[in-house]
Amino acid sequence: MFTSATRSAGLERTETFVRTGARQYAKARNFDFGPNNRANVSTLSPYIRHRLILEQEVISQTLARHSAGHVSKFLEEVFWRAYFKGWLQHRPAVWSDYQASLRTLIGQLEAEPTLLDRYNAAVGGNTGIDCFDAWARELVDTGYLHNHARMWFASIWVFTLKLPWQLGADFFLRHLVDGDPASNTLSWRWVSGLHTKGKTYLARVSNIVNYTDGRFDPKGLSTTAEPLTERAEYEPQALEFRDELLPTESYGLLVTEDDCYPETLASGLQPVAVTGGLAIRNRSALPVGIEAFNFSSAAVRDAVDRASRHFGVEGGYFEADDWSESLAEWATKHHVNTIVTAMPPVGPVADALSAATHALARYGIRIVELSRAYDREAWPHAQRGYFKLKKQIPAIIDRLELDELEPVMPQRVAAGDETRLSSGG
Ligand SMILES: Cc1cc2nc3c(=O)[nH]c(=O)nc-3n(C[C@H](O)[C@H](O)[C@H](O)COP(=O)(O)OP(=O)(O)OC[C@H]3O[C@@H](n4cnc5c(N)ncnc54)[C@H](O)[C@@H]3O)c2cc1C
Repeated sequence: MFTSATRSAGLERTETFVRTGARQYAKARNFDFGPNNRANVSTLSPYIRHRLILEQEVISQTLARHSAGHVSKFLEEVFWRAYFKGWLQHRPAVWSDYQASLRTLIGQLEAEPTLLDRYNAAVGGNTGIDCFDAWARELVDTGYLHNHARMWFASIWVFTLKLPWQLGADFFLRHLVDGDPASNTLSWRWVSGLHTKGKTYLARVSNIVNYTDGRFDPKGLSTTAEPLTERAEYEPQALEFRDELLPTESYGLLVTEDDCYPETLASGLQPVAVTGGLAIRNRSALPVGIEAFNFSSAAVRDAVDRASRHFGVEGGYFEADDWSESLAEWATKHHVNTIVTAMPPVGPVADALSAATHALARYGIRIVELSRAYDREAWPHAQRGYFKLKKQIPAIIDRLELDELEPVMPQRVAAGDETRLSSGG
């Protein structure tokens, strides 16, 4: 389904969906017709998640062809991603607490054979619940599930199978080609009644029969969904955008799986080399799925190839748990003390970079993180419920200057000239 993890494949898919599917999206989107019939949704999520294409581009192409009124549902869904990203950015402890409890639960799987058996039946698609078993296999085989299937699956996992939500979120994050720390963790929490406190999502048989077009008729589903509870209270903290001044010295450009459109990042400023780093294995102590790994790895390589051609400089690639050594070696080889990268949102890339920052400082190397205009505009409205951000969508779109997306041709910075890097996206 996602054989080509490239920007050009993402652009092509956007063009096709905008032309053939965007107008019918609001009416058709809730149907899961199965892996061979996905025309009613965009399937753009792996491209958007890796920023092979930017949300801004998807919005601008959609609005170039349709009036906002006809595609408002689609645009709202695109902004759900910004909502979850912004919400988690305000509460990074939700991610670190999830990771800590996941480590404990993975330990428990080893220590408690009955829990392990129930877990293995769920992830292996052997529960006897027809739809759930099919989706478990579809996820592992293709790396993708329809949104409605994700909601039903998570609900059955938590309320029928009574498995810990964190292990389900981990199963998704390791296998989804669009696996995203914010959208995934917070959607699982939303289904469980932890995001909007006390409000759960119950998977109902009639709903599944109807919206899978009669493909499934599950038996034995829970008819109640008691909200999960937790002791922690997560209050929003201030957002931090750490764009910094570019020093006069040259810099190396680092591409990660969180932003694979580096040509538009440091507009007008020429790096001396480009490298790509992959942190996907840090998503979990358990192995990541082959589809998810291949997509992320190919997306980063595609971005490095493009950037290396665009800037006319050498491109490299590394994959490591600890990024400090790989980055120190690369920066030393190219005689740079500054590494510029897209600001990584809360998740494994941010964790890897934050760990490397201290080690790199010992070599006199600093990391400059550039944020994108879209995130700076949207995230501040994602402190609590989605409605606040939704109200801002027209104003945000107005401010984004959607037609100014073409990468600016790079120029060398004159010695002594201190220029503020601007994000082109
Ligand atoms: C339990 C659960 C886990 C999820 N995990 C992820 C994840 O790891 N990564 C991920 O990108 N999405 C996740 N989602 C959201 C949603 O299911 C997918 O974004 C969507 O199914 C992707 O398919 P599409 O590109 O065809 O979406 P479309 O319906 O065509 O929507 C267009 C784009 O809008 C965004 N979007 C749409 N719906 C949502 C949503 N509910 N939340 C956030 N963004 C949305 C995506 O970027 C998507 O590509 C999850 C949802 C649930 C219920």
